Amino acid sequence: MDIFQKCLDFRDADVVKEAGLYPYFRTISSAQDPVVRMDGRDVVMLGSNNYLGLTNHPEVKKAAQEAIARYGTGCAGSRFLNGTLDIHVHLEEKLAAFMKKPAALTFSTGFQVNLGVISCLVERGDVVYLDKMDHACIIDGARLGFGSVVKFHHNDMGDLARRLDLRDPNKGALVVVDGVFSMEGDIVNLPRLVEISQRHGCRVMVDDAHGIGVLGANGRGTAEHFGCEDKVDLVMGTFSKSLASVGGFVVGEERVINWIKHRARSLIFSAAPPPASVAAVLKAIEIIEREPERRAHLWENTNFMARELRALGYDTGESKSPVIPLVVKADQLAFHMAKRLQQEGVFVNPVISPAVPPGEAILRTSYMATHTREHLDRALEAFAKVGREAGVIQ
Ligand code: PMP
Repeated sequence: MDIFQKCLDFRDADVVKEAGLYPYFRTISSAQDPVVRMDGRDVVMLGSNNYLGLTNHPEVKKAAQEAIARYGTGCAGSRFLNGTLDIHVHLEEKLAAFMKKPAALTFSTGFQVNLGVISCLVERGDVVYLDKMDHACIIDGARLGFGSVVKFHHNDMGDLARRLDLRDPNKGALVVVDGVFSMEGDIVNLPRLVEISQRHGCRVMVDDAHGIGVLGANGRGTAEHFGCEDKVDLVMGTFSKSLASVGGFVVGEERVINWIKHRARSLIFSAAPPPASVAAVLKAIEIIEREPERRAHLWENTNFMARELRALGYDTGESKSPVIPLVVKADQLAFHMAKRLQQEGVFVNPVISPAVPPGEAILRTSYMATHTREHLDRALEAFAKVGREAGVIQ
């Protein structure tokens, strides 16, 4: 049996390509701005996680360029051995201060944060509780750990409580949830979750990839939004969304971060985030602190689009964030509409199972602080036209 046989037989992507509907790996030839260049045309970008519009900000780019001039283009090794620069340490101090937690640790991607943190905390005998719709890297981090995994129904705190009632108090327990769910755009019921977890002696970790910079009066994310930061033990975030770069971090108690620092394999055995990324994040945090109006504008755009999309007749699910799904249900319809929208000058992401439940395909749209009303009006025109054409709205 040739281990490559499955690859040779794999036709799913070819079938979609042959139908002219393939929506993945689309090439963009400009910065990740509110309008991007694709195939020589301008397209309104509603598929980016550049929520605060900082990835092409002149000050952020200048900081990255200066870091390259001083430190070069790479760290040539892991944080653990040779790759820790003074700016990594500075960024960790800055992240801890920004997030109001005692300590922070940076990784090279957000994905690696969840792989490393969850797997090193959940040891043999321990239990990790996951929301069914948690991000793939939370699931994979739990799989890598030697403890057991219990999943509860999406954002269903009654179900979590029932499962925790069955818990053996002699075993360590950790609940890991997305703050803002990346596809649905809904927000975890964190006040209930922390209360139930505390009652059961269970620690809480929030993946706030889509919450940091977006939620809370100061952009500290979901826990700040709900006023329960002191009840969340660990918060992880990524640099690939509001923080304008690539990489990730976790914040929490000093002794816990110290453990992760000496146990997380995705940190110890992987190269450090490059100087340009680190400097970009430092500058992005400075701008986030200095310009709260960016977040206010993001929310104006979000509220405008949520209202207008619903007025057009779209089902936007449970979204309460700048991630707004348009529920279309059938995979083919999602592919078809994404293609038509692109022809009409709007980039959206069709999302099918396993990223959403089977038969619940969506068009994922997401908004930036830097979209203008003119961009959004242009997008709404396309949503009206393509939605009616496809029979998704009247
Ligand atoms: N968590 C969530 C909820 C995410 O959406 C993502 C990225 N899409 C990640 C973690 C991983 O982050 P990164 O892109 O930095 O690897």
